[in-house]
Amino acid sequence: MRTIGLIGGMSWESTQEYYRIINQRVRERLGGLHSAQCILYSVDFEKVERLQRKGEWRRLAKLMASIARKLEDAGAQGIVICSNTMHKAAEDVQKSLKTPIIHMVDATAAEIKRRGLRKVALLGTRFTMEDEFYRRRLKEKHGIETLIPGGKDRVETHRIIYRELCRGIFKQSSRRKLAGIVKKLAARGAQGVILGCTELPLLLKQEDAAIPFFNTTEIHAKAAVDYMLSQPTRGAARRFKHA
Ligand code: GLU
Repeated sequence: MRTIGLIGGMSWESTQEYYRIINQRVRERLGGLHSAQCILYSVDFEKVERLQRKGEWRRLAKLMASIARKLEDAGAQGIVICSNTMHKAAEDVQKSLKTPIIHMVDATAAEIKRRGLRKVALLGTRFTMEDEFYRRRLKEKHGIETLIPGGKDRVETHRIIYRELCRGIFKQSSRRKLAGIVKKLAARGAQGVILGCTELPLLLKQEDAAIPFFNTTEIHAKAAVDYMLSQPTRGAARRFKHA
């Protein structure tokens, strides 16, 4: 099994889901007492969020790159950035690494295509919905069209993520609001919805909508396991043991 390096804590509420799903999946695939060989670097999210708010994406990319290199030095053979938003820095981070980043957008696109869909809505932070990095990759690399909510709904979705979900607050009123936003997106022609924020699946459930949800936490965690189990590398496993 390849060792995976997770950059988590963005927020820890969703990182624990990654840890659970990755371990469960390895157990399902390998059986017995198998569990995931992984290294987690969990950040102080307050610092990350402050930099995001100030638009300091260069600094964030440097921070993510330095963490990813520490994970590589500790034996990681692939990197998982446990946040859709922080994939804004993924291309820059990849340049300074020897090992691949398991890219959230590519994993999600593969699942959307597997289901035969071409036009989906994207829900997430304002950075994910409004900045180019996510939608452009879906379109240019995978031919998938995205719809995003209207202005007020984007502000509200962003607020729910940072003021509630990333603080472990789960309100039924917010769940209803998000379900209402999804309904409008379906009426505009979305065939499915990318839950493009790793905390959203903690609140929104498939029964809240008539169109399929793409749970990026689960999809990304499973893609990480596919990578981990696709080719055992003995040398690197040895290196991890002695790290
Ligand atoms: N976990 C979130 C995401 O998937 C938002 C928190 C962050 O800004 O990293 O986008």
